[in-house]
Amino acid sequence: MPQTDFFAPGAVVSVLTAQPLDRPLDYRAPEGGCMTGAFVEVPLGPRKVIGVVWGPGQGGFAPARLREVIRVLDVAPMRTEMQEFLQRAADYTLTPLPAMLRLATRAPGLADPPAMRRVLRPGPTPPDRWTDARRRVMAVLGDYGGLAFTPTELAEAAGVSAGVIKGLVKQGAIVEEAAPRDAPFARLEPDLPGKTLSADQAAAATHLCAGLRQGGYATTLLRGVTGSGKTEVYLEAVAECLRQGRQALVLLPEIALTAEFITRVEQRFGARPAEWHSGVTMTERRRIWKMAGQGGVQLVVGARSALFLPFRDLGLVIVDEEHDNSYKQEDGVLYNARDMAVLRASICGARVVLASATPSLESWANAEAGKYEKLVLSDRYGAAVMPRIGVIDMRGEKLPANRWVSADLRAAVTERLARGEQAMLFINRRGYAPVTLCRACGHQIGCDHCDARMVEHRFLKRLVCHQCGESKPIPTACPSCEAEGRLAPVGPGVERLSEEAAALFPEARIATLSSDMHGTARALKAEIESIAAGGADIVIGTQLVAKGHNFPLLTLVGVIDADLGLQGSDLRAAEHTFQLMRQVAGRAGRVEAQGVALLQSYQPEHPVIRAIVAGDEEGFWRAEAAERRAAGVPPYGRMAGIILSGPDMEQVFDLGNRLARDDVALRRVGARVYGPAPAPIARIRGRHRVRLLVKADRAAPLQAALAEWTGALRLPAQVRLAVDIDPQSFY
Ligand code: ADP
Ligand code: ZN
Repeated sequence: MPQTDFFAPGAVVSVLTAQPLDRPLDYRAPEGGCMTGAFVEVPLGPRKVIGVVWGPGQGGFAPARLREVIRVLDVAPMRTEMQEFLQRAADYTLTPLPAMLRLATRAPGLADPPAMRRVLRPGPTPPDRWTDARRRVMAVLGDYGGLAFTPTELAEAAGVSAGVIKGLVKQGAIVEEAAPRDAPFARLEPDLPGKTLSADQAAAATHLCAGLRQGGYATTLLRGVTGSGKTEVYLEAVAECLRQGRQALVLLPEIALTAEFITRVEQRFGARPAEWHSGVTMTERRRIWKMAGQGGVQLVVGARSALFLPFRDLGLVIVDEEHDNSYKQEDGVLYNARDMAVLRASICGARVVLASATPSLESWANAEAGKYEKLVLSDRYGAAVMPRIGVIDMRGEKLPANRWVSADLRAAVTERLARGEQAMLFINRRGYAPVTLCRACGHQIGCDHCDARMVEHRFLKRLVCHQCGESKPIPTACPSCEAEGRLAPVGPGVERLSEEAAALFPEARIATLSSDMHGTARALKAEIESIAAGGADIVIGTQLVAKGHNFPLLTLVGVIDADLGLQGSDLRAAEHTFQLMRQVAGRAGRVEAQGVALLQSYQPEHPVIRAIVAGDEEGFWRAEAAERRAAGVPPYGRMAGIILSGPDMEQVFDLGNRLARDDVALRRVGARVYGPAPAPIARIRGRHRVRLLVKADRAAPLQAALAEWTGALRLPAQVRLAVDIDPQSFY
């Protein structure tokens, strides 16, 4: 490292911490000096906090009052490219830098010295007596096989008290061992034989590998129908990246998908990669974080936040199902992991592969414009063929009250059952019924804290608010008119559909998959595996089932309400419906038998429904792109959402009006502001929400203008202002 990056003892350095301060603070370098990027512990008021040496001191503090860095932590220093990434991501998303650093240090105990630790493993003698708690403990130990737990972690993971663990240790059912903290991950072997690729696949893989060998940044859109072998192709790119000794990151949109993928990695490379998501233990998180920085991990598979790991030499990022909404973080720091992956790669000279059967319009447009390379796999691998897609016109359908499965769909399911094949019924709504209505007074039960109706979850025996998560028991009397026994569920949710299916097909084994019905990611994974192995005849599910799972026996997909996503005024309504329907349909017929997807619709002539049925993807993208271009909206124009929220409705409206009026900074760059209007959900958790929308030309320097514009507004303490660059949803 060049000499200038080293600060001699006593030199003034600026240290960025994750504390909500508006800038890095100056300190004196400690005894022994420190490097730019070093992780350090510094005094802040009465506390000690972790920070990063960001650069030379900024000045402005009385030199005599400067405090000294306490110590340099024993972890790999933050690389300059990571500093640049965090800075540019902060600038792009208008997020304070400390909040970005928090994303980049999401691992506990970074300040702890490396040491041995006590871990628990299953012991030689079974417990003398089985209780529920003990069963859970032993199951957790067994399930995580290779992973080691400290007593506290094990108690937390199994949901038992420390006493239960102590008891088991005493008996010898669990033994304690010393294990090094934060060991490197098992080596992946890129040169084990992979599958023999089809000509299309081989061409795509060769192209990606050549790009990796050439080095430098590039993004490739890898488009291919579900089952065309996109995963096989990008695993070859991963292999090439590993051969070069660089690190690879695979982002998946859904935790439930990681298990299947990790098995595939293990088969291909002979060992398991690191797995990073919210379900991973704290110890494992710290291990991955440290190993990423030291090069002790070659491949990380994870959720969007894995993008902020301190990789020593990141060579490749795969964003699988790149169109997926879950890449957009809608809480806290608002960022789109797909876009941030491209940013990070462009800074550190890595390659990005965006894989999807139904790319986002943004990525499609970037490929069209030549900013991204494009690779297409047009056929399913092997004998598998694309499903036939048909529409069931619901306008002529005479269904009895509270029934949603049409006669045609019912007949199609019956036929599959008779042949011993699987059928799937899809509805994109969790819970039993979206509305609970009083038949006496017409009252609909709403959330006390939000402008949202409570959704009945019969499985949980509660009404749940899908906005804030608040729940309450289902009342017997109407909360408004107090009439007894007149409350009725209206409309279908996945649980209610399940009930209907049980009535229609009494012989069938039915599995219902909804993200809220399986306590843990592990339970869900087990359920998915059992279905794939033929453990159910009918699968009923929400959006969760649309994402990439392999169900080899599935030959029919019935969509209960294909129009659902087309309602509302969302900019991306058409795009999302098109993607979701194509994805769901893609679940059918992955192996030899041709699959069929039947969409129930009240608007079969709707252009989106017609495009889905015709399978005319290019046609759809072109038409959608033309409309967006004409309207000057993303990706052909720029947008930002501003949400003001606070306990007092008038106050947030006043502030919104003031923002809308004082728009000089925006007008200077040709941007226009719309609103304020009540946000589509005007109240969440008791906070009133007002929304403004800013539109600008593609080339406009929007962030700077937004910062100046919102920065001029003085916010009262209880009011929050959030800026959402490139908003995905409008809630
Ligand atoms: P995608 O990611 O496009 O949905 P996958 O890579 O998951 O497609 O492939 C679908 C299925 O076909 C998987 O079970 C995969 O193992 C299999 N497959 C794809 N390509 C090949 C190949 N060249 N040889 C053997 N099996 C393949
Ligand atoms: Zn609520």
